[in-house]
Amino acid sequence: MKTCSGVTLIRNGQLVDGTGSPPIPNAHVVVRDGRIVYAGSAIGSPSLPNDVASIDANGGTIMPGLVEAHYHPTYFNVAALEDLDIKYPVEYVTLLAANNAKLALECGYTAARSGGSLFNIDVWLRKAIEEGIMLGPRLAPSGREICGVGGLMDWNPDYRRIGMEGLVLLINGPDEARSAVRKLVKDGIEWVKTYPTGDAAAPDTNDHHTLCMTFEEMHAVVATAHNHKLKVTGHCRATQGILNALKAGYDAIEHGTFIDDEGLELLLKRDVPCVPALQFEYASIEFGPSFGMSQRVVDGHKETLEGGAESARRILKAGGRLGMGGDYGFAWTPHGTYAKELTFFVEHVGLTPLEVLKCATKTGAEIMGRSDEFGTVEVGKLADLLIVDGDPVSDIRVLEDRKKFIAVMQGGVIKAGKLA
Ligand SMILES: [Zn+2]
Repeated sequence: MKTCSGVTLIRNGQLVDGTGSPPIPNAHVVVRDGRIVYAGSAIGSPSLPNDVASIDANGGTIMPGLVEAHYHPTYFNVAALEDLDIKYPVEYVTLLAANNAKLALECGYTAARSGGSLFNIDVWLRKAIEEGIMLGPRLAPSGREICGVGGLMDWNPDYRRIGMEGLVLLINGPDEARSAVRKLVKDGIEWVKTYPTGDAAAPDTNDHHTLCMTFEEMHAVVATAHNHKLKVTGHCRATQGILNALKAGYDAIEHGTFIDDEGLELLLKRDVPCVPALQFEYASIEFGPSFGMSQRVVDGHKETLEGGAESARRILKAGGRLGMGGDYGFAWTPHGTYAKELTFFVEHVGLTPLEVLKCATKTGAEIMGRSDEFGTVEVGKLADLLIVDGDPVSDIRVLEDRKKFIAVMQGGVIKAGKLA
């Protein structure tokens, strides 16, 4: 991705650097050729020519761009799981995904890790974004997901005579697990997304306590992926599924809903980040019924919301790492509302805004394996910045309102916000 050239001074705002440190009032951030060369109090700022390009933060906040740690660019605000696969042809979903990526950037998300994509759309989306053809977050793509036959993502009964060609690679046994990963290696993905467990969305055969892959399959996925320098994550709700993932060598855990003491200990020991994605549960309970969600499914979501919130609190309190990503792209959690996840963690889970902001920036970049490049406002990093006309530390909700964004920058280039 191209960076800007020349020097820009960002001034007249507080600095929230993404490390969890308290805000620095009246800060200066100086960007040279797309990278941060100064970030701190205006008092210690280097002297610059009077005519240097400058951005007025209007007494608001200068902070790192947000990182969506569980992003589905191809989920197009569907009301049923089944619609995620072949409701529309790949051509149309590609256009929708491009639009969703642009929207994410406009919402202040300068980077995102994919949690799975129809076909290989996110891989090519990354290329188009990197080459400046499309606007969107810096992407870590996942391509198709992996799930055991008969598991959560294998919903077409055999009499329909259609498989799950677009969204998942279905496997039976470690050999097929290896061959699925090898396909993904050739596709050019970075993260292998798997389905070790079910979900409240499928109460009949694959609820949140059901396992959808065996340990042997998961271990085969990890060994093959790591051999090719890919990372592995998985949809893990059931206690045993979380344990299996941690023992198999997973690099991240999605949801981590019913983590027990053994799981927590392993998670901390291996320093594996977890992305709870909780606002989805809340929105399912609140708004799912108006989209035809059954009471049974809603009741399941109540259980996973409670379990997930408790697990998230325990992980963070014990010194673990949480990423902020939200599975957005369902009818009740449409694209463009990503920052509701942050608000939810402050208002319902009980984290402080500074904790949540660190999870949504620094930890997100760590999960992507790119924390030396972005995620905090520190000297040497790319100027992937969000300048907000407001104070998210006193009111996290301001990040839900993109009309308040003065600038969304990648590598010092203003891509969205009022100044774009
Ligand atoms: Zn997901």
